[in-house]
Amino acid sequence: VRSKAIKLEKMEVVSQLAASISHEIRNPLTVVKGFLQLMKSKDILAETREQYINIALEELNRACAIIDDYLTFAKPFPEKIEPLDVHHELTKVIDMLRPLANMSGVDIVSALMPAKVSGNAQYFRQCFLNIIKNGIEAIQNVGAVYVHMHVDERTVTIVVRDEGAGMTKEEIARFGEPYFSTKQKGTGLGAMVAVRIIEMMNGTWTIKSEVGSGTTMTVTLPLLLEK
Ligand code: ADP
Ligand code: MG
Repeated sequence: VRSKAIKLEKMEVVSQLAASISHEIRNPLTVVKGFLQLMKSKDILAETREQYINIALEELNRACAIIDDYLTFAKPFPEKIEPLDVHHELTKVIDMLRPLANMSGVDIVSALMPAKVSGNAQYFRQCFLNIIKNGIEAIQNVGAVYVHMHVDERTVTIVVRDEGAGMTKEEIARFGEPYFSTKQKGTGLGAMVAVRIIEMMNGTWTIKSEVGSGTTMTVTLPLLLEK
């Protein structure tokens, strides 16, 4: 089963992304603030206080998860567009995810080659961080996530395949929809962020998945030709 994204207007995508970040982080922080205010009251049962603390901690964890999905590589001037070496950038992302992969019994197997695309390094890394992380999280016991690429005359194609749980047709259809998550502590924002970044880079993507056999996400970006 395949599904393909529709291209959005570039600027619209950038501003939407920036606007949603502050919105998403403000929500859990508002909840924490509310519970801290409640805890200021003197006549509060120890048990209740404990409950409030746990809720506040969970909301703070959620804020952290949202930051991970949006801003892992954040820098002060995120809009800088430059030539990016795909091999180099993907290696950074994979190195960063290795501890998580090791902890989850997942092998990350990569076969990369030098190729340049035009884009922003922060966004590029965030995009593939989210995609590869989903691959790792999809594997219940042991398995691998493969990151392969190929280059042709005009495009660079990056293929991320996992041996994870796979997705139903309905899940594939909802991939990239904000807040859609099947995970207990998921944000449902990682895929949306990834998809928007691909569109921002004038790329295309397809997802192919089957329950029980895993998921393959294919991202195609315009090759930056060296002058
Ligand atoms: P989150 O990871 O926080 O749940 P995402 O936006 O990253 O949110 O992903 C949304 C949903 O898409 C996931 O909860 C999962 O159901 C599905 N999904 C994404 N990638 C994969 C994958 N590689 N294998 C299986 N399911 C996936
Ligand atoms: Mg995710």
